[in-house]
Amino acid sequence: MSLIVHKYGGTSMGSVERIQNVARRVAKWHAAGHRVVVVPSAMSGETNRLLGLAKEINPQPDGRELDMLASTGEQASSALLAMALLSQGVPARSYTGWQVPVLTDSSYTKARIRSIDDTRLLADLDLGRVVIVTGFQGMDEGGNITTLGRGGSDTSAVAVAAAIKADECLIFTDVDGVYTTDPRVVPEARRMTVVSFEEMLEMASLGSKVLQIRSVEFAGKYRVPVRVLSSLTDPLLPLEEEMTSGTLITFEEDQKMEAAVVSGIAFSRDEAKVTLLSVPDIPGVAYSILGPVAAANIDVDMILQNQSVRGTTDFSFTVNRNDFVRTLDLLNNQIGPAVGAGEIVSDDKVCKVSIVGIGMRSHVGVASLMFRTLSEEGINIQMISTSEIKTSVIINDKYMELAVRALHKAFHLDEDKSEA
Ligand code: ADP
Ligand code: ASP
Ligand code: MG
Repeated sequence: MSLIVHKYGGTSMGSVERIQNVARRVAKWHAAGHRVVVVPSAMSGETNRLLGLAKEINPQPDGRELDMLASTGEQASSALLAMALLSQGVPARSYTGWQVPVLTDSSYTKARIRSIDDTRLLADLDLGRVVIVTGFQGMDEGGNITTLGRGGSDTSAVAVAAAIKADECLIFTDVDGVYTTDPRVVPEARRMTVVSFEEMLEMASLGSKVLQIRSVEFAGKYRVPVRVLSSLTDPLLPLEEEMTSGTLITFEEDQKMEAAVVSGIAFSRDEAKVTLLSVPDIPGVAYSILGPVAAANIDVDMILQNQSVRGTTDFSFTVNRNDFVRTLDLLNNQIGPAVGAGEIVSDDKVCKVSIVGIGMRSHVGVASLMFRTLSEEGINIQMISTSEIKTSVIINDKYMELAVRALHKAFHLDEDKSEA
């Protein structure tokens, strides 16, 4: 008997029939004697619908009220799942984030979990109940409802698993595991049976939305075993088969994994680039530019400063596309004039494509194969950033799919390596 957290995403909860299937699957685990906590997402499309309504009222809605609204999607799906379990004869209870409570900071729409009280959850489990906890949300110290950012139910699930010291956190989704890249973009993508924690962290942070980055961070910090698997199989699939399906995130690096130089390709369209031309090349300029950006709570991703020519240099950086307009306003009205920049140019039609692999540490020529592949496709690289286990490029976003497919092939990710 073990203590297990199940997380079901929006597609998995997308209709009454799917919710009933989730209940059947959960009932199967419960009947086998496992103690189960379930963290559901809102039904697919619901969060977008709610955010859309808010934007109709005000294009820049108040953060507190936005979270008050967006959190309701998970409240509804959780209650529906509890009803489905009850009508299948399984004792179950659902709780919202604030009832648990899941305590977060006060950054509305992108709050961070601080602590989770396990008292209620464990008491219900002791009574033999399946416990359902809404994904995506919590409450700050002032009692205000907060949400954890898009895709945040993954983080809720892993955080709950860490809090109750679960044996495993199962992330049920609409794909049957973590692939070498998004299988919707590259049909030849291959499922990995295991992926190292470090690679998963990079993939998630570079845009693979199969797991929210913070869920992977939690898994690492608290050593929660996480498995990504399909919610669309037969709900009565034998437990032994289900338990070993999908992709396990592992904290050990084995020989076989070292052999793969590049394990996956991640991409993100949520990018925008800005450049200040001809800024004086003197100490403190980077700080004068990026200080006010940070103060405005805008995350900067890649930064590029060129060699100075006659005392001036060009300074580029990228931000999330959601922050593009705010960043540009700040540059045009405040930062540009303050640092004495020449022109300010910008482009929000860029994307980031990254290759990821722990084998890159010990192999040379990996980045150059990436650059050669892109050049053979006629794709211009605008910015490059590297770390020990990844190389990312910023390119025009109309070439994103082409770049991902070409790189997937160039690094032989479409080939079956299980025989090797
Ligand atoms: P959920 O609603 O279950 O949280 P998401 O849509 O958030 O599901 O995440 C699952 C999706 O992530 C898949 O449908 C797939 O299109 C996408 N995805 C992106 N990169 C990958 C990858 N490397 N492996 C698997 N899926 C990926
Ligand atoms: N419902 C939220 C979203 O759509 C959280 C999640 O699905 O993980 O982003
Ligand atoms: Mg998701």
